[in-house]
Amino acid sequence: MTSVKKKQFTIVVKIGSSSLVDATTREPRIANMSHIVETITKLRRQGHKIIIVSSGAIAFGMKVMKLERKPTKLSAIQALASIGQGRLIGLFNDLFRQMDQTIAQVLITRNDIIDYTQYKNAKNTINELLDMGIIPIVNENDTLSVSEIKFGDNDTLSAITAGMIHADYLFLMTDVECLYTDNPRTDPNAKPILVVDKIDELNVNTNDDGGAGTNVGTGGMTTKLIAAGLATNVGVTTIITLSSQPHYILDIVSHIQSQDKDVVSIEEQINILQKDILDKKIPLHTRFLSLPQDTQIRSDKRFWILHGLKTRGTLIIDKGCFKALTRRDRAGLLPAGIVDVIGTFHENECVSIKVKDDDIENPNDLIEVGQCRVNYTANEIRLIKGHKSQEIESILGYADSEYIAHRDNLAFPPPPSSS
Ligand code: GLU
Repeated sequence: MTSVKKKQFTIVVKIGSSSLVDATTREPRIANMSHIVETITKLRRQGHKIIIVSSGAIAFGMKVMKLERKPTKLSAIQALASIGQGRLIGLFNDLFRQMDQTIAQVLITRNDIIDYTQYKNAKNTINELLDMGIIPIVNENDTLSVSEIKFGDNDTLSAITAGMIHADYLFLMTDVECLYTDNPRTDPNAKPILVVDKIDELNVNTNDDGGAGTNVGTGGMTTKLIAAGLATNVGVTTIITLSSQPHYILDIVSHIQSQDKDVVSIEEQINILQKDILDKKIPLHTRFLSLPQDTQIRSDKRFWILHGLKTRGTLIIDKGCFKALTRRDRAGLLPAGIVDVIGTFHENECVSIKVKDDDIENPNDLIEVGQCRVNYTANEIRLIKGHKSQEIESILGYADSEYIAHRDNLAFPPPPSSS
């Protein structure tokens, strides 16, 4: 009898501080961590490539320093992170060593990936570790990041990591089983949402947690939805499930492996999945389906411009220009298409792009349509906006490029879903 080889995946598992540290006693949740370690090791032995994105540095630091509340002073938080990160990785290392599984620590700040070569280096290093059979454990390097360059929360960091390495699945482990229409702790009528295929049409109330999460963590449901949107845009199916039951990951992954490959339509997939969750064949979870392949962000550079870089200012362009930038044979951004410049930025920085709309008076109310890396500073663009490229030299006294942004440095997210 020939056995059919099961599909192996690249999986990012995001674990929040509240899964690792008890919010009231501040003690490490060693039993839960051991359960996570056993689950992840099993997945690894099944041949999957696993990356953990783990919070907990600040929470472990608070425990060491016997602090009840997270300090508000940035340098104090950074000091706690540097105390706690060692403890955190030490504990993971002790537990994984019992399972003969090697781990590696990867600490990232946004500054580390501001340069495209460095971004690709980070990607190559993580891929190299995965090829060696090692489990990278990623966290933000809180000790060095200041607010302007912070990823901010590990939900976002995990989605960027998943996008960077083109993972198949991102598991956001949290303290509720799934996404609900409202906060199930305060609203008994809150309904579970099992499958999401159009995230921009989702109608849920996440206001209750305000995205603030627990006293030990940073994210709430709001940041999970942002992370899911970001990851599904780049082809990563995203799953929210209960962090106190890590083996749910194993159950969900083996259910995915057992799926009939002939089920092609989204409707069919959604029906089967919902039925199997309701029939308790798989644990309760929310699954955000990745965008269809033809609309996903496939290019590393486009993903990096949109999500790796932090924007500094805004360029307002006219509608004709937007059309030219987004058509199939995309044009570069010329000064002639620029109507206004907001903020201060330098050349090579990333700026937001918005389209002028005569019905909207305040430019800050315009919605961002894309991002680009510019060849000129904000002040230079203020002088040359609306002009032909041939005039740049006579206005500025030099012309480094005919483009404000070359087409390779322009990135637009997938268009909103059409129903
Ligand atoms: N990087 C932070 C830490 O390790 C956590 C950020 C988050 O909870 O999202 O404590």
